[in-house]
Amino acid sequence: MSNSKNILNYMFGLNTIENLKDILNAKRAVENQYVIYFVDEYFRNKDLINCLPIDNLDVLFFVQTIDEPKTTFINNYRDTLHKSNKNNPFAIVAIGGGITLDTGKAVANILTNPGNAEDYQGWDLIKNPGIYKIGIPTISGTGAEASRTCVMTNVESGLKLGMNSDYTIYDQLILDPNLTKTVPKEQYFYTGMDTYIHCIESLNGSYRHPMGDAYSREAISLVKEVFLNEDMMSDENREKLMVASYLGGQAIANSYVGLVHPFSAGLSVVLDTHHCIGNCITMNAMEEFYPNEYREFMQMARKQNIKIPKGIASNLDDETYLKLYNSTVIHEKPLSNALGDNYKEILTLEKVTEIFKRM
Ligand code: NAD
Ligand code: ZN
Repeated sequence: MSNSKNILNYMFGLNTIENLKDILNAKRAVENQYVIYFVDEYFRNKDLINCLPIDNLDVLFFVQTIDEPKTTFINNYRDTLHKSNKNNPFAIVAIGGGITLDTGKAVANILTNPGNAEDYQGWDLIKNPGIYKIGIPTISGTGAEASRTCVMTNVESGLKLGMNSDYTIYDQLILDPNLTKTVPKEQYFYTGMDTYIHCIESLNGSYRHPMGDAYSREAISLVKEVFLNEDMMSDENREKLMVASYLGGQAIANSYVGLVHPFSAGLSVVLDTHHCIGNCITMNAMEEFYPNEYREFMQMARKQNIKIPKGIASNLDDETYLKLYNSTVIHEKPLSNALGDNYKEILTLEKVTEIFKRM
């Protein structure tokens, strides 16, 4: 029987980031302990950096967001920290989007467990609790702040899978809607839709959990309020979307996704498409599976004047379609959740190719 764990501590509200110093000081046992910061590179020369309680002994990494996390990136951070004798921090603080939040989680786990990041891609493989960690999202939608995974790609094996573990969950969150003010409009939409898509996939699947369903329904309702409103980025709507993202992340603990995420993962592994835009591109081709949600999604995109890219997989060679097929149908759990155990009878190579061409 699954025994669900959710986030234990969170602070929510405008300017809650000002509490970071006190939270860290309460945790710091002796004077010369240090913190490792992972901050989204967007904030490199921004005011936020000057507001952080970074001490001389602390280490600050700016996390690039051109590539989504690879296992080698996580191993490299670990090695750098070992070399500079900074591999035993009392806290890790991650401030940014899903990429940065997942990086913080993975490094916290790998510092206290032997081997490499790729050894822990899977379910419940982490043996030792990670470093105490604080997550501070600056964009809303993936639910990475609340989930028990951190998505990474092992380029060598082609496996895109996280460290699914209770130890991957943040010990403390600071949810400050002020931080999402500067997100570019398109990115705000794509990432915000991750929560919507996750939740509609769960609610349309055969595996159901009353707790997951309740989180999902509320998250969807908030997302619709935000994206059917005139100004999706008003103060009120950024606050609502932050709540929706958190609830969507909680829902992941008790639910499976459906068709969209496996197709989006195919795009990501074969064409390097980022997760959230990949989901939106996949929605272009999902009318036959999710007709009502497809209409609702398109309505929200139109309302916000967001153009979903079209045609990125419409003209590829047979070899690439085969790769796309393989990296999509490998996702057994979500696809059988959506279509039943015999999903491969529906998702033949021909059918999958047709779906990619429609995107
Ligand atoms: P991201 O980290 O990919 O960042 C997207 C862009 O937004 C970047 O250019 C970043 O610099 C910018 N940005 C972030 N905050 C900003 C701000 N306040 N102002 C201006 N620019 C800002 O964002 P994402 O879409 O949240 O994350 C995607 C990642 O999350 C993927 O790697 C995906 O695999 C992962 N993910 C994880 C989970 C999980 O449960 N762990 C779930 C879904 C997705
Ligand atoms: Zn997602």
